[in-house]
Amino acid sequence: MAMPTIKHIRAFTVRGGGADYHDQGGGHWIDDHIATPMSRYPEYRQSRQSFGINVLGTLVVEVEASDGTVGFAVTTGGEIGAYIVEKHLARFVEGQLVTDIEKIWDQMYFSTLYYGRKGVVINTISGVDLALWDLLAKVRGEPVHQLLGGAVREELQFYATGARPDLAKEMGFIGGKMPLHHGPAEGEAGLRKNLEMIADMRNRVGDDFWLMLDCWMSLDVNYATRLATAAHAYGLKWIEEALPPDDYWGYAELKRNVPRGMLVTTGEHEATRWGFRLLLEQQCADIIQPDVGWCGGMTELIKISALADAHNVMVVPHGSSVYSYHFVITRHNSPFAEFLMMAPKADKVVPMFNPLLLDEPVPVNGRIKVSELQAPGFGVRLNPECKLNRPYER
Ligand SMILES: [Mg+2]
Repeated sequence: MAMPTIKHIRAFTVRGGGADYHDQGGGHWIDDHIATPMSRYPEYRQSRQSFGINVLGTLVVEVEASDGTVGFAVTTGGEIGAYIVEKHLARFVEGQLVTDIEKIWDQMYFSTLYYGRKGVVINTISGVDLALWDLLAKVRGEPVHQLLGGAVREELQFYATGARPDLAKEMGFIGGKMPLHHGPAEGEAGLRKNLEMIADMRNRVGDDFWLMLDCWMSLDVNYATRLATAAHAYGLKWIEEALPPDDYWGYAELKRNVPRGMLVTTGEHEATRWGFRLLLEQQCADIIQPDVGWCGGMTELIKISALADAHNVMVVPHGSSVYSYHFVITRHNSPFAEFLMMAPKADKVVPMFNPLLLDEPVPVNGRIKVSELQAPGFGVRLNPECKLNRPYER
């Protein structure tokens, strides 16, 4: 088979949901007084959008091959990401064989090292990388999970992230992860309210359902330790992203401090094999949670996952919809997956990147069968109703 080359790469922005899932309208659980590192400022406590959590918006990367096949991917990156793709990364992509994924990743990463390494640059590299995987799989006429070595189980099982684990239980999920609402700046009263929420939810879901807490980088070691210790009585399964991501030493201490049996998880804002190496070698977490659209893409996730496997650490990617589904189904050290409840009241299942993608699979009874992941590539299409903007056309 003569392998096509990549003829063109294009970058678009789009607003309103999509890969930037924080870009939601008012009244959504995801923007309702969730504890963050900015919660120390009362004026930024009620809404994450107030401090700019949705300023980036969604980035769509499209790659077109010489045989006319088009691959694409979506991530968080918006106009800055579009600039980086069109002005910088395009040179490493256009003209290459569609199989040249490893070389392209290497050139994208090392050419941006002087201003990249983490954050929006790596989000952008992730978007290009995922578009390349989508393209290669479409050229081969196979789903991405087959290119990754094939499924190791028949179905994915999901826990749900959102404000209503009790409803997630009714919908067939294996667990529910709630956002923490009050940070250390809200003192003892805030801590009490946090614990009351966990106790109340444990009452509603009964003993056997997994309950987890997502702290979105909002705590310090002492507060997180007190919270975890007190929440043990309510069977909290894990405490997630308790500390800012640069505090590797704090995570290592927290992991030593939490009650026996409770898991420490983190990594959704970590990137690349080198970032995760720090988490793994310092024994910061029991589960790492790379976001496939932010950690460096599929090419990098393969390496992160292998490193984690050798450290006996599970890899349960953060969100990332089809980009994580195709990976998780191929790995024994990824035994379940996350589903973000994007309905404003977390009371029904809607596609995670709604409304941007068509054919985006959703869990039914908390599960997605591998038979639903058989379309070529990542198996999704862009919704033509979503208006794409190409700010840096070449
Ligand atoms: Mg999280």
